[in-house]
Amino acid sequence: MPNIVILGGGVGGTIVANQVARQMRNELKNGDLSITVITESAQHVYQPMFLYMAFDQVVPADAKKPERELLDRRINLVVGAAERIDAAGNAVWMADGTRIAYDYLVIATGSRPDPEQVPGLTDGGYHFYTEEAALRLRQALHDFQGGRIVVTVGVPHKCPVAPLEFVLMVDDWAKARGIREKTEVVYTYPIGRVHSIATVAEWVEPILDGRGIETHIFFNPETVDPQAQTITSLEGETLRYDLLVAVPPHTGQAVIGRSGLGDSGGWLATDRASLRLQGSDNVFVLGDATNLPISKAGSTAHFEADVVASNLVNLLRGGLGSVRYDGKVFCFIETGLKKATFITFDYANPPTPVEATEMIHLYKLAYNRLYWLTPAGLL
Ligand SMILES: Cc1cc2nc3c(=O)[nH]c(=O)nc-3n(C[C@H](O)[C@H](O)[C@H](O)COP(=O)(O)OP(=O)(O)OC[C@H]3O[C@@H](n4cnc5c(N)ncnc54)[C@H](O)[C@@H]3O)c2cc1C
Repeated sequence: MPNIVILGGGVGGTIVANQVARQMRNELKNGDLSITVITESAQHVYQPMFLYMAFDQVVPADAKKPERELLDRRINLVVGAAERIDAAGNAVWMADGTRIAYDYLVIATGSRPDPEQVPGLTDGGYHFYTEEAALRLRQALHDFQGGRIVVTVGVPHKCPVAPLEFVLMVDDWAKARGIREKTEVVYTYPIGRVHSIATVAEWVEPILDGRGIETHIFFNPETVDPQAQTITSLEGETLRYDLLVAVPPHTGQAVIGRSGLGDSGGWLATDRASLRLQGSDNVFVLGDATNLPISKAGSTAHFEADVVASNLVNLLRGGLGSVRYDGKVFCFIETGLKKATFITFDYANPPTPVEATEMIHLYKLAYNRLYWLTPAGLL
């Protein structure tokens, strides 16, 4: 009986598990196939909610559901930390010493914000990339009465548009609070334009200018001095702040490094079309864990999961598993508290943002509520 093991019960891993289970329900029912999801936490977390949590628009309970409730009941769920992937031995070793063997492995372990890479940032600044951090920032925003807000961006990081969303939302939020006149909003970006995607940078630059948001490009955060309330870049520029909000640089998960599989950042060398771990026939990688030069986003994991699930089903039915991923990504971009736009792109076609509207913002809010249909494989 073939064994599919999926490491990581986030958006990508859960979609793959449910899609394969749905398409191979008879094999699962008859005991001719087994699917196991291994994941660290019993709770599935919808991370985009952290942005809204920082602005006190949602609470942690809105962002979580038990993973068991989202998975087809015929899928085995193992809640625990994987210690090491033994790719040569076709097995995952758990922290408690258990060995879980596989015929096919899907690695969907995501990524991890690592603010410690910027000395002083953890003490001197805030972020919104974990629930705990978003709640700390919520309190800081609640207490803020005006001053200089610096939003700084480290790379690589997941959700490439989140820093723009935060800076545009904080601008609207300060207006709504009646403190915009006594608030400076400053945005820094590591490369020579205000966003990594050229068309997004071209679209947003006049918006930032028009809203009086000060921008600093070629600013790679290097150190923070919490006492002096300054942040200094690798390029030698120092900015003063009253409230520092960072998008911290990210790494791959520690299990990837421990398994000797990733590069120096913990990212897995992944074939951009087949989504197989390079050099392997039976290991697929998707979502944030890959080293692909595309956005680390939930939608990326979603589109990749469709490809991986199709290939697994095809392989199990005697095919070659040759469905290819075309690099498709879709992202909403909040442009304040009441309007949003969206971008869609792939390896060959860059995005073209459309004018932001209230309707698109309402779609995004609706999607936030409907999200739970996504990991269930229904949306
Ligand atoms: C503030 C914020 C806003 C965002 N906004 C958007 C947005 O608007 N649109 C969008 O598309 N994306 C957005 N994202 C990004 C999106 O959440 C991620 O890109 C997406 O979750 C990645 O999916 P994944 O399946 O690769 O990893 P994840 O969903 O992170 O799941 C990884 C899973 O692996 C498990 N895991 C890791 N290591 C181990 C281990 N050793 N053992 C067992 N289990 C392990 C984790 O517990 C987790 O369940 C946002 C993210 C943040 C933080």
